[in-house]
Amino acid sequence: MNRRAGGGARARPKRSLGQNFLVDANVQSKIVAAALEGPVGPGAPVLEIGPGRGALTDRLARRDVRLCAVELDDALAAELTARYADNPRVTVLHDDVLRVDLASITGDWAGTRVVGNVPYNIVTPIVFRLLAPPCPKEIVLTVQAEVAARMLAGAGSKTYGALSVGVALAARAQRLFDVPRKAFRPVPRVDSTVVRLVPSPASHEASREAVRTLVRAAFSWRRKQIGTILTRHPDLRFAAAATARALESRSLPTRARPEQLSPEDFAALAEALRR
Ligand code: SAM
Repeated sequence: MNRRAGGGARARPKRSLGQNFLVDANVQSKIVAAALEGPVGPGAPVLEIGPGRGALTDRLARRDVRLCAVELDDALAAELTARYADNPRVTVLHDDVLRVDLASITGDWAGTRVVGNVPYNIVTPIVFRLLAPPCPKEIVLTVQAEVAARMLAGAGSKTYGALSVGVALAARAQRLFDVPRKAFRPVPRVDSTVVRLVPSPASHEASREAVRTLVRAAFSWRRKQIGTILTRHPDLRFAAAATARALESRSLPTRARPEQLSPEDFAALAEALRR
């Protein structure tokens, strides 16, 4: 425990929960401005993921929005609940964001803006949850720079993978700005990047699950050829003839590697192989 200026004891940051707190006031206000960009009506719903010690929460709570903040850590959730007890526009939920029912969390999920400085180990499941319909209005996430690069990567690049394809098929993704590691306490080993995701209606007919299974399998064998992956990967094992037809329908050589396939190729293959 260390002592705060205010007197109370404060628990040590927990690495297991990715607790690197944002202490740079300028960056805090830039993130909140990005999350609330554009016309935001009075009482607009906002979900904050992992409020921690309230770096973003305090700034959001000063705005005319209805804020729900989901924090897993017992002590931090209790501290925030007490801090906002007199603010009827702020609700602190002591829960795991991966388990809560997102669609009903703010009462108007489709109109909800999501903001969060998110622990590395749960970025991917959070992103896939947020981009699974029904989706919120907009998402502004602060993530490790390397994760942002994977989210935003295009086909052919080294960082292109399952996360890039999942994001590209479900949202318009935009890199907003970088955050140096020294903006956090404790100082993490890597820099961060703030990204905006605007969910888009699915542009393909294949089920999300089928696309995800295909993409996950493909990148788990990323050095193998797509023809081999489709016919031999234990999660796929499509018939050779169906595989050949599906690849031909996209003019894809059977020898292509997963990173050469665009997000639309994956969606089209999943659709063709479903029939
Ligand atoms: N938003 C604060 C800030 O910017 O200083 C804290 C950010 S810290 C990187 C991540 C926060 O997410 C921590 O407070 C941690 O306890 C919380 N957290 C970790 N896993 C969580 C989960 N599954 N559900 C909700 N909160 C979680």
